[in-house]
Amino acid sequence: MRRAFLVLPLGLAIAVNSARSQANWSIHSTDRPKPPIVAAGAPALPVPPPADAKVLFDGTDLRHWSSADGAPAKWRVEDGAFVVLPGTGTLTSRDTFGDVQLHIEWMTPSPARGTDQNRGNSGVFLMSKYEVQVLDSYENVTYADGQAGAIYGQFPPRVNVSRPPGQWQSFDIVFHRPRFNAAGAVVSPARMTIFHNGVIVHDNAELLGPTSHRVRAPYEVHEGRLPITLQDHGHAVRFRNVWVRALDNGGSDD
Ligand code: MG
Repeated sequence: MRRAFLVLPLGLAIAVNSARSQANWSIHSTDRPKPPIVAAGAPALPVPPPADAKVLFDGTDLRHWSSADGAPAKWRVEDGAFVVLPGTGTLTSRDTFGDVQLHIEWMTPSPARGTDQNRGNSGVFLMSKYEVQVLDSYENVTYADGQAGAIYGQFPPRVNVSRPPGQWQSFDIVFHRPRFNAAGAVVSPARMTIFHNGVIVHDNAELLGPTSHRVRAPYEVHEGRLPITLQDHGHAVRFRNVWVRALDNGGSDD
């Protein structure tokens, strides 16, 4: 009995310390260990949308998207994809979503230009607030919590499974929005499970708050459904085959 009492608290302490040490890295720390590189398997893209998915881009037009101010989307559609038109700003889904399964395919420019964060940078923002980083992270070093597949500024991907620029890559994201109580306190944080090129890079990660640059921002109460947005970071990143399956109704009762 005595031994059982000793072992159990030790195990718990290790688990708590491990979670805490992940959260305790300062934002964008260049000392944070880089995820190991794993070669992705042969591409099996595009992944066709299941029958109950809402298709946000089927290769033809951007009717499901707008500019941030609601004006028609300015990004360019070509060859069954759409491309960031640098300087035109964020692309915003016309529909709003809470908990979702999201599939999106993306390609960074080839030949690659620039280094670090200035190379094939964009991002997928769930609820316009929680960014999964899009970046050319193939033979391109940056801070660990800012590379492709990172929950930006919070958690590096478990592995770097990036394909070279000019090749299609995929994210499959399971997102659960945060829940707030009537007083505005967080009852449960946002959570994400993410597959990059079919490989798990986050396993039910609990987000520390909304995405921000250089400073970790605290949660603030927000609606149960908000648009998905894509980032204009000044680079001509391509996207295609975007589909979503809603996992909740966005209400306060679920
Ligand atoms: Mg980005």
